[in-house]
Amino acid sequence: MPIEAFQKCIDPSCGLEYPIREVRIECERGHLLDVRYKSTPSTSLKEVFYKRRNHANNIFNESGVWRFRELLNFCEIDTESIEDCSKFLVSLDGAEGRLSKPYHMSKVSDYVGVQNLWLQPEGYNPSGSFKDNGMTTAVTHAKLVNIKKIICASTGNTSASAAMYAANENMECDVYIPAGEVAPGKLGQAFQFGAQVIEIKGNFDDALSTSLKRAGEGGGYTVNSVNPFRIEGQKTIVFRALESLDWNAPDWIVYPGGALGNTSSCGKSLMELYEWGWIKKIPRIAVVNSEGANTLYTLYNGKFEGVEVRWNNGKPDTDIINRYYKFMDSNGIKPKTKATAIQIAKPANIVKGLRALDFTDGVVTQVSDGDMLDGMALVGLNGFDCEMASGAVPAGIRKLMQEGVIKKDDTVVGILTGRQKDSSIPVEYHKNPKNRFAHPPKS
Ligand SMILES: [Zn+2]
Repeated sequence: MPIEAFQKCIDPSCGLEYPIREVRIECERGHLLDVRYKSTPSTSLKEVFYKRRNHANNIFNESGVWRFRELLNFCEIDTESIEDCSKFLVSLDGAEGRLSKPYHMSKVSDYVGVQNLWLQPEGYNPSGSFKDNGMTTAVTHAKLVNIKKIICASTGNTSASAAMYAANENMECDVYIPAGEVAPGKLGQAFQFGAQVIEIKGNFDDALSTSLKRAGEGGGYTVNSVNPFRIEGQKTIVFRALESLDWNAPDWIVYPGGALGNTSSCGKSLMELYEWGWIKKIPRIAVVNSEGANTLYTLYNGKFEGVEVRWNNGKPDTDIINRYYKFMDSNGIKPKTKATAIQIAKPANIVKGLRALDFTDGVVTQVSDGDMLDGMALVGLNGFDCEMASGAVPAGIRKLMQEGVIKKDDTVVGILTGRQKDSSIPVEYHKNPKNRFAHPPKS
């Protein structure tokens, strides 16, 4: 079979290429990598993907990730061969992505003022967050290159997902977490799935730099979203949304902003689909930061040194990004939000995120913890479950709508990234009658 997939540096003026079986998270000049494909997938696959929804107990058709396997075939398998799929593709019995698709939630829709609003609960994944979409592919690559131990840093959801897939594949898993900054339900999952938890003094950014250092010393295979194979799986979040809309691109796709792996994967999926002729229109990405962890918002909107940081044809001003990081360090500015899933000051995928925003003419906004809690509560009142960070999505759409950026007739898809794993948050919210959607207990 011809070699169709390879890894390539995202910096257009560098462009170093590596074989698919090489384990690295950056090129030798320190730039992030993409997984790239030489062939153009036929649009006739749309019909194949649709038919696979009647999966007939084939777990690779049941999986909301592997159903689209021709668009992420980095293992270069015969995608119709069940033997090949079983041998190469890692899946939690088809559970990843199986239940996630866009839903219309009328109360959220009325609140934000957009009627064509679709929210996709990625929390309905086996470990309870969108991470399973990318973990299934990262662990597939790990298995391809005979890895026995995976490693990650996490605000909670990554560790839960990594530990779950590692347990299912009989791999070891080390997770580095910021001590005291992870929701108890997420930490419990890492232990439950048998991971070795390593607590780091500091925040997520410190945990990530420690875990990357340990991985570089041979301590394991990194499954954070700097791993390009993570991004491949997360593209399927967009595929499922688009398939539900008959591949008619919406006007907007909205994500909470943390490490920017989702923004990056959304951008990559749209770049590929557009290049392949699968979509005619490019949706705009809106990223919603927390006010307490708003690095992308600050840099993208020129709130630091007055310069709007952009992709700039592959030459983003990384000096200003580094100066901002130094400014935060020297002034003791730490990311601070109750939405711990996006409590990140140094988004590891910022350069890929800028590329995605550039390709889609994206915008970046920020919302308060109170706004996120209201968003989370309202999703709950529609009978759907999401965590506080996901509440950034309705909150951000509402804000952009009020600012006239999103128009009331626009079609908007919002990604609810994770399920509620900290029960104290809704309990506290609803106990306080001052909260907008509170439903306080009676005695
Ligand atoms: Zn490079």
